[in-house]
Amino acid sequence: MPIPLIERYRDRLPLEPGDPIVTLCEGSTPLIEAPVISERVGARVLLKLEGANPSGSFKDRGMTVAVSRAAGAGAEAVICASTGNTAASAAAYAARAGLRGVVIVPEGKIAIGKLAQALMHGARVIALRGNFDQALEIVRALADRHPVELVNSVNQYRIEGQKTAAFEVAEELGEAPDALAIPVGNAGNVTAWWRGFGELSRAPMLYGFQAEGAAPLVRGVPVPEPETVASAIRIGNPARWEEAMAAFTSSRGRVEAVSDGQILDAYRLLASREGVFCEPASAASVAGILAHGLAAPPDHPPPETVVCVLTGHGLKDPDTALGKAPAVIGCEAELEAVERAAFAG
Ligand SMILES: *Cc1c(COP(=O)(O)O)cnc(C)c1O
Repeated sequence: MPIPLIERYRDRLPLEPGDPIVTLCEGSTPLIEAPVISERVGARVLLKLEGANPSGSFKDRGMTVAVSRAAGAGAEAVICASTGNTAASAAAYAARAGLRGVVIVPEGKIAIGKLAQALMHGARVIALRGNFDQALEIVRALADRHPVELVNSVNQYRIEGQKTAAFEVAEELGEAPDALAIPVGNAGNVTAWWRGFGELSRAPMLYGFQAEGAAPLVRGVPVPEPETVASAIRIGNPARWEEAMAAFTSSRGRVEAVSDGQILDAYRLLASREGVFCEPASAASVAGILAHGLAAPPDHPPPETVVCVLTGHGLKDPDTALGKAPAVIGCEAELEAVERAAFAG
């Protein structure tokens, strides 16, 4: 049986002794070799499959800690703004804890699998006629007015839970990798990984990647109308802006943009050549190293081992997958016809 993340790293997490452990057995996700991508970039590339978490994204690492603490503190409900995965995860852990869940999502802008999850787990789902950044502003104000726990990545416990991914990678490799490639939206996850490595003896260079149409950290100014196929990182004004930029700088890494075309190419490459189906936002990490290479400062050796964080599962967003996939082949129930359809051409 896998060990719940809170049990595995209890001594490094800020829970109170009386807090219940609200868990779905998250964490301990696979770290696998990526031979095709390794060959293309000329370094050993590994993929951290965060889509293998119970609700299908890394958000579960933070949510188990945030919801355990919220339950321990007597909260009645949890609330969040979300591009989708935070909503799915918050709804699942709220259900598990017997708390009410309220999630606010940008109307028409979240992947269908994530919406199904939030609804199935019994959360109240509110579709805002606005974008993620407006939703976050509103839930922050609501959390000041009501006895509810805000479980966006502005929540410290979320970051604490998410830092455990760095511990897992370092344990498995024997030390931290030379570089970590990660998609960046609200910038909570890169902040969390950096904090995790900071508690260890060695830290990697951080390569953060944003989608071109939602790249405030790359441009240095907020993006009022962020747009990208990678809905999980469609964020124009990251909540953890300063911390993320400080992490890129002190790691001697960088933050760069990748186009939707590059994201979708990496998304298809991962699925068709590495056997890994992640969501488009996750593929930004691989798109980034393919597009920008593995640059290092002049006085720094180029990285030999790179971990790409694949943040969420491909099944979350079947519309994007099917929109780009070849057509299904219809066929009569007849041996020769099936034979032709299967093997001809
Ligand atoms: C939340 C999320 C991200 C972005 O993480 P931030 O902490 O917002 O930077 C990337 N990919 C997926 C699949 C996500 O769910």
